[in-house]
Amino acid sequence: MKRLKGIGVSPGVAIGPAYVLLAGRLKIARRFIRPQDVDDEMARFHRALELTARELKEVKLHIPEGMPQALSIIDAHLLMLRDPVLLRETEKLIRNRLVNTEWALIQIFEHYKRLFASFEDPYLRERIHDLEQLIDRLIMALQGEDSYVAPSEPAIIVARDLSPADTARLQASTTKAFVTELGSRTSHTAIVARSLGFPAVVAVEGILSQVNPGDLLAVDGFSGEVVINPPSEIIEEFLDRRRRYHVRKALLYNKAKRPAVTKDGRRIAIRANLELVDEIPLVLEHGAEGVGLYRTEYLYVTRDTLPTEEELLLAYRQVVEGLRPYPVTIRTLDLGGDKFADHFEGPEEINPALGLRAIRLCLKNLDIFRVQLRAILRASAFGKVRIMFPLISGLGELLEAKQILGQVQEELTREGLPFDENIQLGVMIEVPSAAAIADLLAKEVDFFSIGTNDLIQYALAIDRGNKDVAHLYDPLHPGILRIIKQVVSAGHEAGIEVFMCGEMAGEIYYVPLLIGLGLNELSMNAQTIPEVKALIRELYYRECQVLAQEALGLATPEEIELLLREWLEHLDLELSVRQLWN
Ligand code: PEP
Ligand code: MG
Repeated sequence: MKRLKGIGVSPGVAIGPAYVLLAGRLKIARRFIRPQDVDDEMARFHRALELTARELKEVKLHIPEGMPQALSIIDAHLLMLRDPVLLRETEKLIRNRLVNTEWALIQIFEHYKRLFASFEDPYLRERIHDLEQLIDRLIMALQGEDSYVAPSEPAIIVARDLSPADTARLQASTTKAFVTELGSRTSHTAIVARSLGFPAVVAVEGILSQVNPGDLLAVDGFSGEVVINPPSEIIEEFLDRRRRYHVRKALLYNKAKRPAVTKDGRRIAIRANLELVDEIPLVLEHGAEGVGLYRTEYLYVTRDTLPTEEELLLAYRQVVEGLRPYPVTIRTLDLGGDKFADHFEGPEEINPALGLRAIRLCLKNLDIFRVQLRAILRASAFGKVRIMFPLISGLGELLEAKQILGQVQEELTREGLPFDENIQLGVMIEVPSAAAIADLLAKEVDFFSIGTNDLIQYALAIDRGNKDVAHLYDPLHPGILRIIKQVVSAGHEAGIEVFMCGEMAGEIYYVPLLIGLGLNELSMNAQTIPEVKALIRELYYRECQVLAQEALGLATPEEIELLLREWLEHLDLELSVRQLWN
């Protein structure tokens, strides 16, 4: 028996034989071609492109109904296949370096892998897997292989990675679960797995070298455990877990759409963080009341020209209409630092996190800022939109951004283009100086949204992307709790609501504390929402306030964490809710 651990991305338990898929890319060698064979190699590349496009279109026809995410992901792959940069770069490598197409594609992939790895946003970082899967598929087409052959009997699929197209082709009759070496919670494959309802575990290091075809596997898609050749007592344990998961899932999903109101009547708005239009169904299914943070960078970093106003409007409008009547909080561009798109590339910065990023970058590139503001405002004619500026550090910056917004509003009025004239405006509180002057900022906006990911980085002087100091990155640092408390008080005193949209908002143990600190809205990744709502419905606001008071009196993160865990454990939760954590 061997126990491995990965990230559980689609809950559920499965036991069955392993069916191992090997990716084509693993077997590639460099081959030099003669100059006179370049044209033949080029033709070979283009045949593979056509074949892959045909294959993807064929896959689209067979996607079961009710899976819009899978469809749009495959559309995205089809678009990527026609991407002029990908085509040009591959052709250039073949011609200049006289190498086979497979090798050229791998070089391109390695280049993008390094580039994507530098992105701060995990969602964007993950998008490299889309390119990887597409290149795998092209290589298989070059070598005349079909990328996916279904098992003949029900089995657990084990692969280095599965493309969303392959995932969408998994048949419920022959697939019990899947396990991959690569991937993360936000990878597209994980999204498709959840929509299909297969248990899935990704990022299981070394699984391919440890499992043989036909080995018995036990997979827990919630905890991320994978056991190779489990003895009978482990099988029993996994079967028992399976029974409990069924109860849990039914409970959570039945109640996901109910509002999150504490037992003593305080209503907390629970919204989702979103990056892409194709996440809308997921957001709604999980009971989100709209979007508390729409990260808009994705439309800028995946291409080498700037998006036009119409392109932005189209995307924003889809999100706004898809989530109506709930609000969608669109954050203006947060590029810079290590989230650079080609067209913004400026001089190298020694301290990118403290450099020209987010609102600072927009105020220096007014053309780009105005185009985005026009698109956001125009989208507000189609539903409820809120605008939010990231990384505000002082009043002057906010006033400058507001002035541009006002000018753009006048422009649209002159042009007769409709928008919501009462659109709500907020600032993200991510910089300690903004927290310190929250009372001044509050007079100028309709809401605050605390971005804890950056706030913690700047307040504790911990680079959020540096693994050597990651152990010091602590949301429960007493300094952070005091800052949150101060921002909430300043906001409430000025009569505005205070939200939180950093990762801290979706951590189940922190929820009673955050409610006790007085936050009005929590925005998080959609999958967490049913659990958070279920918990809130079991809480008393006044007890949470006492808890927050007690936490604020403690001196270290360790004491605060212990307090929160014990508090939750001793809470007299309804049995059904307690089952969520046990
Ligand atoms: C934050 O900083 O908390 C936040 C939500 O923004 P991002 O993670 O996109 O920087
Ligand atoms: Mg941020």
